[in-house]
Amino acid sequence: MKENSKKIIGAHVSISGGVENAPLNAAAIGARGFAMFTKNQRQWFAKPLTEENISLFKSNCAKFGFQPEMILPHDSYLINLGQPDPEKLEKSRGSFVEEIHRCMQLGLDRLNFHPGSHLKTISEEDCLQRIAESINLALAETEGVSAIIENTAGQGSNVGYCFEHLARIIEGVEDKSRIGVCIDTCHAFASGYDLSTEEGCDWTWKQFEKLIGFEYLKGMHLNGSKSKLGSRVDRHHSLQQGELGELPFKWLMNDHRFNGIPLMLETINPEIWPEEINWLYSLEK
Ligand SMILES: [Zn+2]
Ligand SMILES: [Zn+2]
Repeated sequence: MKENSKKIIGAHVSISGGVENAPLNAAAIGARGFAMFTKNQRQWFAKPLTEENISLFKSNCAKFGFQPEMILPHDSYLINLGQPDPEKLEKSRGSFVEEIHRCMQLGLDRLNFHPGSHLKTISEEDCLQRIAESINLALAETEGVSAIIENTAGQGSNVGYCFEHLARIIEGVEDKSRIGVCIDTCHAFASGYDLSTEEGCDWTWKQFEKLIGFEYLKGMHLNGSKSKLGSRVDRHHSLQQGELGELPFKWLMNDHRFNGIPLMLETINPEIWPEEINWLYSLEK
Protein backbone atom coordinates (compact mmCIF):
# COMPACT_ATOMS: atom_id res chain seq x y z
CA MET A 1 0.00 0.00 0.00
CA LYS A 2 1.22 3.48 -0.83
CA GLU A 3 1.54 5.43 2.39
CA ASN A 4 0.49 8.70 0.78
CA SER A 5 -2.48 7.27 -1.15
CA LYS A 6 -5.82 8.94 -0.55
CA LYS A 7 -7.70 5.90 -1.80
CA ILE A 8 -9.50 3.77 0.78
CA ILE A 9 -9.46 0.25 -0.64
CA GLY A 10 -11.05 -2.62 1.24
CA ALA A 11 -13.43 -5.54 0.83
CA HIS A 12 -16.76 -6.83 2.10
CA VAL A 13 -15.51 -8.94 5.00
CA SER A 14 -17.21 -11.57 7.14
CA ILE A 15 -18.85 -10.90 10.52
CA SER A 16 -18.90 -14.58 11.40
CA GLY A 17 -18.50 -14.87 15.17
CA GLY A 18 -19.63 -11.26 15.72
CA VAL A 19 -19.46 -7.82 14.10
CA GLU A 20 -16.30 -7.13 16.10
CA ASN A 21 -14.44 -9.53 13.78
CA ALA A 22 -14.97 -7.36 10.68
CA PRO A 23 -12.13 -4.90 11.44
CA LEU A 24 -9.83 -7.83 12.29
CA ASN A 25 -10.67 -9.55 9.00
CA ALA A 26 -10.06 -6.30 7.11
CA ALA A 27 -6.70 -5.68 8.77
CA ALA A 28 -5.64 -9.26 7.98
CA ILE A 29 -5.93 -8.63 4.21
CA GLY A 30 -4.19 -5.26 4.23
CA ALA A 31 -7.41 -3.27 3.71
CA ARG A 32 -7.66 0.43 4.61
CA GLY A 33 -11.41 0.13 5.07
CA PHE A 34 -14.14 -2.48 4.88
CA ALA A 35 -17.74 -3.27 4.03
CA MET A 36 -19.84 -5.53 6.25
CA PHE A 37 -23.33 -6.63 7.18
CA THR A 38 -24.31 -5.65 10.72
CA LYS A 39 -26.33 -8.89 11.07
CA ASN A 40 -27.20 -12.04 9.15
CA GLN A 41 -28.31 -10.56 5.82
CA ARG A 42 -30.98 -13.21 5.28
CA GLN A 43 -32.96 -12.22 8.38
CA TRP A 44 -35.56 -9.48 8.69
CA PHE A 45 -34.75 -8.70 12.29
CA ALA A 46 -31.82 -9.82 14.42
CA LYS A 47 -30.80 -10.27 18.01
CA PRO A 48 -29.72 -6.84 19.30
CA LEU A 49 -26.00 -6.12 19.41
CA THR A 50 -24.62 -6.62 22.90
CA GLU A 51 -22.57 -4.05 24.80
CA GLU A 52 -19.65 -6.40 24.29
CA ASN A 53 -20.13 -6.56 20.47
CA ILE A 54 -20.26 -2.79 20.35
CA SER A 55 -17.27 -2.04 22.53
CA LEU A 56 -15.11 -4.70 20.87
CA PHE A 57 -16.08 -3.44 17.40
CA LYS A 58 -15.09 0.09 18.37
CA SER A 59 -11.82 -0.89 20.02
CA ASN A 60 -10.85 -3.15 17.09
CA CYS A 61 -11.56 -0.29 14.67
CA ALA A 62 -9.49 2.10 16.79
CA LYS A 63 -6.62 -0.38 16.96
CA PHE A 64 -6.28 -0.44 13.16
CA GLY A 65 -7.25 3.17 12.48
CA PHE A 66 -10.59 2.41 10.78
CA GLN A 67 -12.68 5.60 10.85
CA PRO A 68 -16.42 5.72 10.00
CA GLU A 69 -15.71 7.19 6.53
CA MET A 70 -13.67 4.06 5.72
CA ILE A 71 -16.52 1.68 6.55
CA LEU A 72 -19.49 0.88 4.32
CA PRO A 73 -22.11 -1.28 6.05
CA HIS A 74 -24.67 -3.00 3.77
CA ASP A 75 -28.27 -3.78 4.71
CA SER A 76 -30.18 -7.05 4.32
CA TYR A 77 -31.09 -8.25 0.83
CA LEU A 78 -34.68 -8.85 1.99
CA ILE A 79 -35.51 -5.17 2.35
CA ASN A 80 -37.47 -3.56 -0.52
CA LEU A 81 -38.11 0.12 0.22
CA GLY A 82 -40.16 0.42 -2.99
CA GLN A 83 -42.38 -2.56 -2.16
CA PRO A 84 -45.88 -2.14 -3.68
CA ASP A 85 -47.68 -4.19 -0.99
CA PRO A 86 -48.46 -1.92 2.03
CA GLU A 87 -48.01 -4.60 4.68
CA LYS A 88 -44.72 -5.85 3.25
CA LEU A 89 -43.58 -2.26 2.80
CA GLU A 90 -44.10 -1.67 6.54
CA LYS A 91 -41.94 -4.69 7.32
CA SER A 92 -39.16 -3.46 5.01
CA ARG A 93 -39.29 0.02 6.50
CA GLY A 94 -39.14 -1.36 10.05
CA SER A 95 -36.20 -3.58 9.20
CA PHE A 96 -34.38 -0.68 7.50
CA VAL A 97 -34.77 1.51 10.61
CA GLU A 98 -33.40 -1.34 12.73
CA GLU A 99 -30.38 -1.54 10.42
CA ILE A 100 -29.74 2.19 10.82
CA HIS A 101 -29.97 1.83 14.60
CA ARG A 102 -27.33 -0.88 14.50
CA CYS A 103 -25.05 1.46 12.51
CA MET A 104 -25.67 4.20 15.09
CA GLN A 105 -24.75 1.83 17.92
CA LEU A 106 -21.52 0.93 16.14
CA GLY A 107 -20.63 4.60 15.59
CA LEU A 108 -20.94 4.28 11.78
CA ASP A 109 -22.06 7.12 9.52
CA ARG A 110 -23.56 5.50 6.41
CA LEU A 111 -25.66 2.51 5.32
CA ASN A 112 -25.53 1.11 1.79
CA PHE A 113 -28.70 -0.45 0.33
CA HIS A 114 -30.24 -1.57 -2.95
CA PRO A 115 -33.06 0.84 -3.78
CA GLY A 116 -35.90 -1.63 -4.41
CA SER A 117 -38.16 -3.39 -6.90
CA HIS A 118 -41.58 -2.58 -8.35
CA LEU A 119 -42.40 -6.29 -8.77
CA LYS A 120 -44.27 -5.39 -11.96
CA THR A 121 -47.18 -4.10 -9.88
CA ILE A 122 -46.49 -0.37 -9.83
CA SER A 123 -44.66 1.95 -12.23
CA GLU A 124 -40.95 2.72 -11.90
CA GLU A 125 -41.84 6.29 -11.01
CA ASP A 126 -44.19 5.18 -8.19
CA CYS A 127 -41.52 2.82 -6.95
CA LEU A 128 -38.86 5.57 -6.89
CA GLN A 129 -41.21 7.88 -4.96
CA ARG A 130 -42.00 5.13 -2.48
CA ILE A 131 -38.27 4.60 -1.91
CA ALA A 132 -37.73 8.32 -1.28
CA GLU A 133 -40.61 8.31 1.19
CA SER A 134 -39.19 5.22 2.94
CA ILE A 135 -35.87 7.05 3.30
CA ASN A 136 -37.58 10.19 4.65
CA LEU A 137 -39.39 8.13 7.30
CA ALA A 138 -36.21 6.29 8.31
CA LEU A 139 -34.10 9.44 8.52
CA ALA A 140 -36.75 11.15 10.66
CA GLU A 141 -36.53 8.33 13.22
CA THR A 142 -32.73 8.16 13.35
CA GLU A 143 -29.68 10.39 13.40
CA GLY A 144 -26.07 10.58 12.26
CA VAL A 145 -26.29 7.89 9.56
CA SER A 146 -26.68 8.63 5.84
CA ALA A 147 -28.69 6.42 3.48
CA ILE A 148 -26.46 5.35 0.58
CA ILE A 149 -28.36 4.18 -2.51
CA GLU A 150 -26.55 1.64 -4.69
CA ASN A 151 -26.98 1.52 -8.47
CA THR A 152 -28.26 -1.84 -9.69
CA ALA A 153 -27.70 -4.05 -12.72
CA GLY A 154 -31.42 -3.73 -13.44
CA GLN A 155 -32.05 -7.41 -12.96
CA GLY A 156 -35.72 -8.44 -12.66
CA SER A 157 -37.86 -5.48 -11.63
CA ASN A 158 -35.12 -3.64 -9.73
CA VAL A 159 -35.06 0.12 -10.14
CA GLY A 160 -31.83 2.11 -9.75
CA TYR A 161 -30.16 0.89 -12.96
CA CYS A 162 -29.54 4.39 -14.30
CA PHE A 163 -28.26 7.63 -12.78
CA GLU A 164 -31.64 9.26 -13.52
CA HIS A 165 -33.28 6.86 -11.04
CA LEU A 166 -30.78 7.66 -8.30
CA ALA A 167 -31.22 11.38 -8.97
CA ARG A 168 -35.00 10.99 -8.77
CA ILE A 169 -34.75 9.35 -5.33
CA ILE A 170 -32.36 12.03 -4.06
CA GLU A 171 -34.78 14.68 -5.31
CA GLY A 172 -37.52 13.17 -3.14
CA VAL A 173 -35.41 13.04 0.01
CA GLU A 174 -35.90 16.00 2.34
CA ASP A 175 -32.59 15.92 4.23
CA LYS A 176 -29.98 16.10 1.46
CA SER A 177 -27.19 16.05 4.05
CA ARG A 178 -27.99 12.40 4.85
CA ILE A 179 -28.36 10.91 1.38
CA GLY A 180 -25.66 9.58 -0.93
CA VAL A 181 -24.90 6.97 -3.57
CA CYS A 182 -22.60 4.01 -4.01
CA ILE A 183 -21.70 3.03 -7.58
CA ASP A 184 -20.94 -0.61 -8.26
CA THR A 185 -18.73 -1.04 -11.36
CA CYS A 186 -20.23 -4.42 -12.26
CA HIS A 187 -23.80 -3.18 -11.89
CA ALA A 188 -23.03 -0.04 -13.93
CA PHE A 189 -21.56 -2.11 -16.77
CA ALA A 190 -24.37 -4.68 -16.72
CA SER A 191 -26.93 -1.89 -16.81
CA GLY A 192 -25.33 -0.40 -19.93
CA TYR A 193 -22.57 2.04 -18.85
CA ASP A 194 -19.52 0.97 -20.84
CA LEU A 195 -16.73 1.39 -18.31
CA SER A 196 -14.48 -0.91 -20.35
CA THR A 197 -13.36 1.89 -22.69
CA GLU A 198 -11.77 5.34 -22.22
CA GLU A 199 -14.66 7.05 -24.00
CA GLY A 200 -17.17 5.04 -21.98
CA CYS A 201 -15.55 5.99 -18.65
CA ASP A 202 -15.34 9.61 -19.69
CA TRP A 203 -19.01 9.68 -20.75
CA THR A 204 -20.24 7.73 -17.70
CA TRP A 205 -18.53 9.93 -15.11
CA LYS A 206 -19.57 13.08 -16.96
CA GLN A 207 -23.16 11.83 -16.84
CA PHE A 208 -22.73 11.06 -13.15
CA GLU A 209 -21.46 14.57 -12.46
CA LYS A 210 -24.29 16.11 -14.48
CA LEU A 211 -27.19 14.04 -13.11
CA ILE A 212 -26.08 13.34 -9.51
CA GLY A 213 -22.82 15.10 -8.63
CA PHE A 214 -19.67 13.77 -6.95
CA GLU A 215 -20.66 15.44 -3.67
CA TYR A 216 -23.18 12.57 -3.28
CA LEU A 217 -20.65 9.78 -3.98
CA LYS A 218 -20.12 8.12 -0.58
CA GLY A 219 -18.72 4.77 -1.67
CA MET A 220 -17.95 2.44 -4.56
CA HIS A 221 -18.13 -1.30 -5.07
CA LEU A 222 -15.19 -2.40 -7.20
CA ASN A 223 -16.17 -5.55 -9.05
CA GLY A 224 -15.28 -7.23 -12.29
CA SER A 225 -18.24 -8.42 -14.36
CA LYS A 226 -19.02 -11.90 -15.68
CA SER A 227 -22.04 -10.54 -17.47
CA LYS A 228 -21.97 -8.54 -20.68
CA LEU A 229 -22.51 -4.82 -21.25
CA GLY A 230 -26.20 -4.03 -20.94
CA SER A 231 -27.15 -7.61 -20.04
CA ARG A 232 -28.87 -6.48 -16.82
CA VAL A 233 -27.52 -9.57 -15.12
CA ASP A 234 -25.69 -9.14 -11.80
CA ARG A 235 -22.68 -11.50 -11.82
CA HIS A 236 -19.49 -10.26 -10.18
CA HIS A 237 -16.01 -11.38 -11.21
CA SER A 238 -12.49 -10.83 -9.93
CA LEU A 239 -11.05 -7.45 -10.96
CA GLN A 240 -8.59 -8.55 -13.61
CA GLN A 241 -10.94 -11.09 -15.13
CA GLY A 242 -14.24 -10.74 -16.90
CA GLU A 243 -15.75 -8.23 -19.26
CA LEU A 244 -14.69 -4.94 -17.67
CA GLY A 245 -10.95 -5.38 -18.06
CA GLU A 246 -8.47 -3.30 -16.10
CA LEU A 247 -9.28 0.12 -17.49
CA PRO A 248 -12.10 1.27 -15.18
CA PHE A 249 -9.92 0.58 -12.15
CA LYS A 250 -6.88 2.39 -13.59
CA TRP A 251 -9.22 5.26 -14.32
CA LEU A 252 -10.63 5.66 -10.84
CA MET A 253 -7.35 5.03 -9.01
CA ASN A 254 -6.02 8.10 -10.84
CA ASP A 255 -9.05 10.34 -10.40
CA HIS A 256 -9.07 12.44 -7.21
CA ARG A 257 -12.89 12.46 -7.14
CA PHE A 258 -12.70 8.92 -5.76
CA ASN A 259 -10.45 9.94 -2.85
CA GLY A 260 -11.53 9.60 0.76
CA ILE A 261 -14.51 7.27 0.25
CA PRO A 262 -14.73 3.51 0.83
CA LEU A 263 -13.82 1.64 -2.39
CA MET A 264 -14.90 -1.89 -1.60
CA LEU A 265 -14.28 -5.21 -3.32
CA GLU A 266 -17.17 -7.64 -3.58
CA THR A 267 -15.19 -9.80 -5.96
CA ILE A 268 -15.78 -13.53 -6.05
CA ASN A 269 -12.50 -14.92 -4.74
CA PRO A 270 -11.69 -13.66 -1.23
CA GLU A 271 -8.40 -15.56 -1.33
CA ILE A 272 -6.95 -13.06 -3.79
CA TRP A 273 -8.28 -9.93 -2.03
CA PRO A 274 -4.79 -9.03 -0.69
CA GLU A 275 -3.41 -9.20 -4.26
CA GLU A 276 -6.37 -7.26 -5.66
CA ILE A 277 -5.85 -4.53 -3.07
CA ASN A 278 -2.11 -4.31 -3.86
CA TRP A 279 -2.82 -4.33 -7.58
CA LEU A 280 -5.24 -1.40 -7.23
CA TYR A 281 -2.70 0.66 -5.28
CA SER A 282 -0.05 -0.18 -7.89
CA LEU A 283 -2.19 1.50 -10.57
CA GLU A 284 -1.75 4.92 -8.99
CA LYS A 285 0.68 7.08 -10.92
ZN1 LIG B 1 -22.46 -3.95 -4.86
ZN1 LIG C 1 -23.99 -7.19 -7.37
